[in-house]
Amino acid sequence: MNQSTKTKMPVLFIGHGSPMNMVLDNSFTRSLKELGKTLPRPKAILVISAHWLTQGTFVASTAKPGMIYDFYGFPRELYEVRYNCPGAPEYARMTWDLLAGKKEITCDNSRGLDHASYSILKYMYPEADIPVFNMSLDYTFNSWVEKCVQTHYDLGLQLRRLRQEGVLIIGSGNMVHNLDQIDFDIEAKPYSWAADIDKLFKRELEKNNHKFFIDFPESGTSAVLAAPTLDHYLPMIYALALQEKNEHVQFTYEGIQNGSISMRGFRIG
Ligand code: ZN
Repeated sequence: MNQSTKTKMPVLFIGHGSPMNMVLDNSFTRSLKELGKTLPRPKAILVISAHWLTQGTFVASTAKPGMIYDFYGFPRELYEVRYNCPGAPEYARMTWDLLAGKKEITCDNSRGLDHASYSILKYMYPEADIPVFNMSLDYTFNSWVEKCVQTHYDLGLQLRRLRQEGVLIIGSGNMVHNLDQIDFDIEAKPYSWAADIDKLFKRELEKNNHKFFIDFPESGTSAVLAAPTLDHYLPMIYALALQEKNEHVQFTYEGIQNGSISMRGFRIG
């Protein structure tokens, strides 16, 4: 085993926001370019995607993942974005091994990349020369029932060894994500409730208060505004589960787009 395989990789949560970011030069996309330059080079990248919702948890073992354009009504140039990275079947298999027995886990050898991956990776790693694989969110336990978020958190705990193996794990979603109230102007003034909840999240992240985030979806009005559905919230829960003792959250970006979407991202480790 050479030295690089022993480097414990950081963990990221990235708020990916609107697909429009794929073709914009703004403070968010520039922050992704910088982030890519500051991280140790990973052997593979695992993206836990807000846009892959399944019954049971799936890990993509595709050797050459194709593009999934899972957004509608955007300008043509977005559908011309390509990210021709290799897949990472061996790391997918390793992930499957780590999770087997915890939940119903399936390897999918044909799944491509959705925009939760390539919309951020095209800035972080423009060469597309690092193998990428995806993990889905099991939506059968995504409901407003007790312990739903805890179940995802517990699954995230099982992924810790991947960090030791040189895998950069990225939760890709948005911690505040309300499409019902979205303003189609990406630069729109943030709703005050969105700014307030984003600040609250910042404070609790600084305290490493995982329990707050596990309980938050059941906390009433704020939760209904910030995470009316859990798909974009849950990737953050996986990132938090991977935080180890003595590791702190460093914010990689903060801001709100489209009035109701927090673009806050963070790095652990
Ligand atoms: Zn999204």
